[in-house]
Amino acid sequence: MRPFEYQRADDPAHAVALLDGDPDAAYLAGGTNLVDHLKLGVATPGRLVDVRHLGLDEVEETDDGLRVGANVRNSTLAAHPLVRERWPAVARALLAGASGQLRHQATTGGNLLQRTRCVYFQDVTTPCHKREPGSGCSAIGGYERYDAVLGASESCVAVHPSDLAVALACVDAQVVVLGRDGERRVPATELHRLPGDHPERDTVLEHGELITAVELPATQAARRSTYVKVRDRASYAFALVSVAAAVELDGDTVRDVRLAWGGVAHKPWRAGRAEAALTARRLSDDGISAAVDLELVAARTTEQTAYKLPMVRGATLTALHRLQEGLQ
Ligand SMILES: Cc1cc2nc3c(=O)[nH]c(=O)nc-3n(C[C@H](O)[C@H](O)[C@H](O)COP(=O)(O)OP(=O)(O)OC[C@H]3O[C@@H](n4cnc5c(N)ncnc54)[C@H](O)[C@@H]3O)c2cc1C
Ligand code: SF4
Repeated sequence: MRPFEYQRADDPAHAVALLDGDPDAAYLAGGTNLVDHLKLGVATPGRLVDVRHLGLDEVEETDDGLRVGANVRNSTLAAHPLVRERWPAVARALLAGASGQLRHQATTGGNLLQRTRCVYFQDVTTPCHKREPGSGCSAIGGYERYDAVLGASESCVAVHPSDLAVALACVDAQVVVLGRDGERRVPATELHRLPGDHPERDTVLEHGELITAVELPATQAARRSTYVKVRDRASYAFALVSVAAAVELDGDTVRDVRLAWGGVAHKPWRAGRAEAALTARRLSDDGISAAVDLELVAARTTEQTAYKLPMVRGATLTALHRLQEGLQ
């Protein structure tokens, strides 16, 4: 590991000030992703600003939902009674991620900003536009099994790995961000970006912007929500595909539905066309499959990734069946 300077920030404004104007500095939260990257040489910041002591570790009920501090641990959030009751997709997504020890160390902000698990991104001996812009993409034509099938570009076919991010995109969460010009809110659906010509930019955040909280709006649909994750092992593995679903039903008819997919794109994929096709209709297997296919019209697969399309269809069916039966 290369030597680096370590500083502890006292409050959010102090943290932002410490990164402002220093492109070589990075925030350190639980460290479960960043420290791995330091060891591998994937990340080489000269200065780490520790953001674990900013007082952002509360989960607070608000007039219209819940405010989750950026330093709330994944295990704490998953176990929170209000999250389990009103946003079960969020609790289930968190419990589907990593291991107990990791969830206890990992933070809300760090989880959203963890980097792709593309095997080439993590191997500094291979070309990768995301790690080193302009160097190439080793995944295209290489080991493609985990790659994106929606929204990928000629520059990058990596997927975003956070389970929490997919659940937050489904329940219309807002990410609260502090920068040098003050606070702003970014919808969870807009936080991560498609790769385009700049795959090195995972999100719309500017350097130095600090996530301070995530806000969960209380909706009827979120109360009836779930998360289905398909992976190579039953636990301790990233998603091949995942589905966060929330639905408000009137009998068997859909009054309101939200669907977000993981493991298929560079960002959590909100399936808007499928949602529109399902709204105001009775939930049926044929209807769900047709709605998913409408969304997948834009999909591009290779021999290695073609399996993801029937898998995301099956996971969406499973998720909506569960909700129809009143399960989480
Ligand atoms: C073996 C293993 C298996 C895993 N499996 C899964 C899985 O199945 N699903 C899943 O979702 N995750 C999984 N993870 C990832 C894990 O959840 C993340 O490493 C963790 O959530 C990152 O949080 P952290 O607090 O440790 O972030 P850190 O490693 O400290 O930081 C991650 C990034 O976020 C930035 N950052 C941190 N906090 C802030 C903030 N408040 N504002 C702005 N920037 C910030 C850091 O600068 C860094 O770039 C796995 C990890 C490991 C090691
Ligand atoms: S898919 Fe993206 S992250 Fe993976 S090697 Fe290509 S550029 Fe790098």
